[in-house]
Amino acid sequence: MSPFVLLMTATTLANAPADLIIRNAHIVTVDSNFSTASAAAIRDGKFIVVGNDVAVLKTRGPKTRVIDLHGQTIVPGFNDTHVHLTAGKDLETQVDLTHIRSIKQIQSTLVARAKQAKPGEWIVGTRGWWEYQLAEGRLPTRADLDAAAPHNPVSIPGPHYVIVNSLALKLAGVTRDTPDPQGGQIYKDSSGEPTGLLMDNAGRFIRKFMPKASDAQQVAGMKRVLALVNSHGLTSAGDPSGSVEDAAMYRRLRDRGLLTVRLDFSYNIDPAEPLDKAEAELKALPRPGSDGDGLFRADEIGETGLDGAELTALLEHDYPGKPGYRGLQKVPTEQFKRFAALVAKYGYRLRPHAVGDAAIDEALDAFEYANVQTPIVKRRWMIDHAFLLGQQHYDRVKRLGLIINSQYMHNYELGALILKAWKRPLADRSEPYREWLQNGIMFAGGSDGPISYYAEPLLEIYGEVTRGTQWGGRLGPDQGISREDAIRSVTINGAYTTFEEKVKGSIEPGKYADFVVLSGDILKVPPEKIRDLKVLATVLGGRTVYGSLGQ
Ligand SMILES: [Zn+2]
Repeated sequence: MSPFVLLMTATTLANAPADLIIRNAHIVTVDSNFSTASAAAIRDGKFIVVGNDVAVLKTRGPKTRVIDLHGQTIVPGFNDTHVHLTAGKDLETQVDLTHIRSIKQIQSTLVARAKQAKPGEWIVGTRGWWEYQLAEGRLPTRADLDAAAPHNPVSIPGPHYVIVNSLALKLAGVTRDTPDPQGGQIYKDSSGEPTGLLMDNAGRFIRKFMPKASDAQQVAGMKRVLALVNSHGLTSAGDPSGSVEDAAMYRRLRDRGLLTVRLDFSYNIDPAEPLDKAEAELKALPRPGSDGDGLFRADEIGETGLDGAELTALLEHDYPGKPGYRGLQKVPTEQFKRFAALVAKYGYRLRPHAVGDAAIDEALDAFEYANVQTPIVKRRWMIDHAFLLGQQHYDRVKRLGLIINSQYMHNYELGALILKAWKRPLADRSEPYREWLQNGIMFAGGSDGPISYYAEPLLEIYGEVTRGTQWGGRLGPDQGISREDAIRSVTINGAYTTFEEKVKGSIEPGKYADFVVLSGDILKVPPEKIRDLKVLATVLGGRTVYGSLGQ
């Protein structure tokens, strides 16, 4: 069967020839018909013609580079709408724990680092490991960290928690008498002493002591992270939570030609702080919007945490086997309503982190409250994660015109933990994509890296289709979606979250020439093999930022 080939010509096509033509390719355009094409012409960083080889080759001029792709599959550049790229700025100062598989290994890594460090100098680990992967089957304690590095304060970040040693606790003034903060917990042993595990907002006790990377270290770390995500096919990313300094850092990278994804930036403002302080911060922000260069935009406040994650998500009912426990509420409901209204008033969009069904209720209550004062319905506000978004929420989500930023990567990587904490049948309700689509809920996919994998869109597509997980089981096996819908979730739907669906997210004339060359046919390989596909090249605005074309 020959592919449906649609010839599209940009209305703006003048007579100037193309800079670059790719031909003899299998182009999955992700246009509204999900049509395929064999060739595309690019000029000034944008597609000018997409169609069959004969039509596209008409744009060839004497200087046009023409590349035969020998039937390789091309998809639009991927967009991960929730990836914490700013974590890269600290990479150069952290101890690499990405391949750790035991507490013993953590200790030997810390011992080695402590030998190079001065006494009193902070040692901070990276993410990239999970409790269930550790041979000891438990999290390290402050005693484990003390044994390795007694003379340095140590902090090891986890998802929604940090583990610190005794010296770090001492510096932060955390003792057996310190009360839990709102939305946080200081874990204590049977004798009442802190174990070193600081959950959610309790992590703030030590955050202010964290060492700061120098400018050069930050740039080096960011280059590493950007190269990594480009190698996974990313051409667009949403960084859901950063500071004013982080925004300035991205702009510096952009000005030096080092920003190799189109970045959607969200400012983080703490909704739990007094509202006059939040308002002062909102007032001080630049006008929300895009820099007009297609590379940097900032019009969101995120990811304001309403609850925790798997163990601390705010649920409408008690956790199975834990009578009376419904998770952590980080912001009182009335406060969050008024916060949302302020965000709307200053023209920003809000994208709270809400995992549990009750946290989603809180987000919706606040959005509806804000909407009465400053309409948000056409403003594409978002909820991030929304694991337990269900029937009770759908009408409200649609009435408010919301988009869900969801990352199947959580189910993939943490499915075992979700199952342990929520049990079936609730665990199978985590991210029910088929039901969302049937109910007209739009969602964009992502990774939440480095909490999870750093931006792995192919793995995300695999998971959305198969509901597979890293531990081997399937979470919500009846909630898989078509690969076309899964591809949309990491391309055109991502573009929609930033009002850019007319300029990117598909391979069509007039759009940015952002695309990825894959090692196989993503529309035909068996579903289980989608995760084995490789990115061979990534092109951003006609410029190759990873790999090379035409091998
Ligand atoms: Zn996140």
